[in-house]
Amino acid sequence: MKYAFATDEQREFVEGAYKIVEKELKPRIEEYEAADGGLGVYPMDVHQKLVDAGYYGMSIPEEYGGLGFDMLTQGLIIEEIGRIDAGFAFAFAGSSCYFDRILATKMPEEEKQMWADRILSGTMGCFCLTEPGAGSDAAAMITSAVHDDAAGEWIINGTKCFASNSPNAEYFIVFAWTDKTKRASQGVTAFFVEKERGVKIGKKENKMGLHLSETADVIFEDVRVPDDHVIGELGRGFGVALGGISGAGAVVNCCPCLGMSQAALDECLEYAKVRRQFGKRIVDQQAVGFMIADMEMRTQAARALVYDALRAADEGIKTNLDLLIKCYVTDCTMQTTMDAVQVCGGYGYMKDYPFERYMRNAKIFQIFGGTNQIKRKNLIKSMAGRDPMK
Ligand SMILES: Cc1cc2nc3c(=O)[nH]c(=O)nc-3n(C[C@H](O)[C@H](O)[C@H](O)COP(=O)(O)OP(=O)(O)OC[C@H]3O[C@@H](n4cnc5c(N)ncnc54)[C@H](O)[C@@H]3O)c2cc1C
Repeated sequence: MKYAFATDEQREFVEGAYKIVEKELKPRIEEYEAADGGLGVYPMDVHQKLVDAGYYGMSIPEEYGGLGFDMLTQGLIIEEIGRIDAGFAFAFAGSSCYFDRILATKMPEEEKQMWADRILSGTMGCFCLTEPGAGSDAAAMITSAVHDDAAGEWIINGTKCFASNSPNAEYFIVFAWTDKTKRASQGVTAFFVEKERGVKIGKKENKMGLHLSETADVIFEDVRVPDDHVIGELGRGFGVALGGISGAGAVVNCCPCLGMSQAALDECLEYAKVRRQFGKRIVDQQAVGFMIADMEMRTQAARALVYDALRAADEGIKTNLDLLIKCYVTDCTMQTTMDAVQVCGGYGYMKDYPFERYMRNAKIFQIFGGTNQIKRKNLIKSMAGRDPMK
């Protein structure tokens, strides 16, 4: 673990998680990537091992039976899992982080406790915002929820796409128009929807990378949920959506990238110390050595930013660093994983080595959770004193 300020307790948790994924996942990554005709599968058995060891739903408060880990501790654990596979780290962490949305519903306390128990025993969730015609412009969504006054229920219709973990999810955080006469910030509502209410899963995507994280359409055809399944206030779903892709949550989402950068750097350095050309180690060729030195600089700088922001969030200090951190960390990781391939030459391009997987996996982190262009657009707006949401 590279974070100098980690406590002994944090180190123990991190090492425990790393040992499990190193033993259970590392030797079988290629097998999981190639499964399901090359679409890849999420390794449920590894998931369950981590669940059994207490690593799932790490943020669930102690009063609901969870560990109530702070953001920093969660980040450190996710980084270390990401050293083995960033796609798995993203799916594992991302599918378990929605209990605060469940708490924000008006469901009875017993139901909330039941969901805490289910999540702690491994039940996965899914975030459904994007639609085929509504990506960066989420307000262009057409999914709607119409109220049945007699039944006291909402009827949801629409199709969400690119939903991570949806093939394995048992519940969904769904965004739908509830009042189209208003602006999206007042007319879109967030709902908690259990799978058994009739949610259908569509085709599984065939992706460039992140094969250990399954992605698919999610279809709602007259899916009914009771009034108490509204998350937060009616019409304020956009605030809930932003909570998932901004703030400290967005910073935690960068942690798989830290692990992936570190792995690419460590492994290509080892390669460069052994590979000899022109009578010397390639690490001693200045052009190669400088690339590796830059990888080290980027990775250390990214880590410092991430953990500084998470530590601040845990102390209740608002930093507004999430936009720049998301861009910086994911751009650094893309560059570092590409450079790792370059340092290893033709061998870096071969599937015998992990570098091409790192490079394929890195790309998506610049796209999802709000593309880096949109993040930059919002960053400069806020720097210029304008409202990023307008
Ligand atoms: C593997 C994967 C997993 C995902 N998981 C989820 C998930 O779990 N839940 C979910 O809801 N969504 C998920 N997404 C969706 C993801 O968040 C969107 O793909 C992303 O927000 C971009 O939307 P888009 O793909 O429609 O691209 P578009 O919005 O069509 O953008 C295309 C390009 O245009 C640029 N662009 C668009 N508008 C502007 C602008 N105003 N200024 C500058 N540039 C602009 C973008 O930056 C991008 O480069 C996932 C996507 C992928 C690929």
